[in-house]
Amino acid sequence: MWRLLNGWLPFQDKLQQFGLHLPSKCSFCPSSETLQHSFVHCWMARYVWSYFQCMLGVRGAADTLIKTLQGWWILASGKSPTAVLVYLLPVLICWELWKARNQVVYENVFLRPPYICRQIVWHLNAIGAAHPFACANDDTWRRLGLLPIFKMPKLLKCIPLVWSSPQYLYSKLNVDGSSLGNPGHSGGGGLVRDYHGQVIAAFSAYYGFCTNMEVESRALLEGLLLCVSLGLVKVIVHMDSEQLLKIVQRTISAPWKLDSLVRQIHEVLSRGEFVLEHSYRETNAVADELAKQASTTHIGRGPTKPPLYQGE
Ligand SMILES: [Zn+2]
Repeated sequence: MWRLLNGWLPFQDKLQQFGLHLPSKCSFCPSSETLQHSFVHCWMARYVWSYFQCMLGVRGAADTLIKTLQGWWILASGKSPTAVLVYLLPVLICWELWKARNQVVYENVFLRPPYICRQIVWHLNAIGAAHPFACANDDTWRRLGLLPIFKMPKLLKCIPLVWSSPQYLYSKLNVDGSSLGNPGHSGGGGLVRDYHGQVIAAFSAYYGFCTNMEVESRALLEGLLLCVSLGLVKVIVHMDSEQLLKIVQRTISAPWKLDSLVRQIHEVLSRGEFVLEHSYRETNAVADELAKQASTTHIGRGPTKPPLYQGE
């Protein structure tokens, strides 16, 4: 649009200013080709503009491109779905007219006007799918027949989630916390596996009444201490609490209640090469189950009992 409005598109009249004399006839009619002709006066442009002007009740028949655009944009005030539509449409119309012109000039392919209109609607739908407009109650959209398409659910992005073993000589610790009620009966769970994927050790510990963040922190601390006690110094740590990860990485500050726990975590982290990463819940399922077991059965290490290590 910037190039168009500044007259920078290489139409024949523009090229002639640089001494390039090529056929100057419009590709769609016998008139000579200029920017104003191709975007406003040519029957092809008029067809496309009036198609959408009729639909939206925009007054048409302006004699220059800038006046045509003004006619649209003056109506595009506010943030209503129709305003968004009225604002976007002229841009898409210009884009498709320019493409249609180039198709015939450079590739000798003639696109029929209804096809161009469909392309414009297709663009609108693509934009709508990427940025869903709140258009549920807007009549204009319904009149345009765009509503059913715009109500289309967003495309889901699929990522395969698989637990993967750590690199050579590293171990992987998966930890998780479970609080039934937040605060409520809580437990932490975790397990350490070597780079073959073999379980080295695991824990499932009951912590009494805790909040979510408290139990996540305690489970992480417990897991880290477990690694240290096993003499593991190169450990990838996976947890599904993004918030705790940010707290430990000091991206966000810790609530005062967690301050002491977070300090202990930092102290243990300084004892080895620990790489903390966020993992999706799906790849942390075993730790999650161990934590849930502790919080529901109340079995596992209590505040005074020694840790319950399993595995090996
Ligand atoms: Zn023409």
